[in-house]
Amino acid sequence: MEHTNEMQLIFDSRSTNESFARVTVAAFMTSLNPTVEEVSDVKTAVSEAVTNAIIHGYENEVHNISIRCRTEGKTLYIEIEDKGKGIEDVKQAMEPLFTTKPELDRSGMGFSFMEAFMDHLEVSSAPGKGTTVKMDKTIGKGRRLWTTQSL
Ligand code: ATP
Ligand code: MG
Repeated sequence: MEHTNEMQLIFDSRSTNESFARVTVAAFMTSLNPTVEEVSDVKTAVSEAVTNAIIHGYENEVHNISIRCRTEGKTLYIEIEDKGKGIEDVKQAMEPLFTTKPELDRSGMGFSFMEAFMDHLEVSSAPGKGTTVKMDKTIGKGRRLWTTQSL
């Protein structure tokens, strides 16, 4: 069986915790020996999902956000969950430029960034119950053989 590793993080939905969350996931993934770019991709995706939980899920009230991370082989799996207001129409919410908060200068690109920077993205949500964002990324896919051999 492939080597696996897991962690779980539960924190308050305060905007100051957004950088804490993304740095923690970045630290967790270092065992996969990622490039600077791979780390930056994951941090961007985590940051978008956590920001969404804070401003849309809980509408700036303070409640729990939970992040579960798992590595399995070279793949990092991340689940980010809030128990906030949920999403009525997930398909529509995931469309580029769709936002329910244009007055707050949101551009509606959060899910598009998560999709672009990770290999897979899956969003499950129920109005009144909350939202779970699952995403994964395999590390080392674009790396050339000589890089790992000679450096
Ligand atoms: P941006 O991320 O560019 O600042 P945005 O947050 O509106 O803008 P997305 O992150 O793509 O754009 O999210 C699209 C929409 O999906 C949001 O406007 C919101 O209505 C809904 N949404 C996203 N995440 C959640 C969540 N955790 N809980 C409730 N609604 C959410
Ligand atoms: Mg967003």
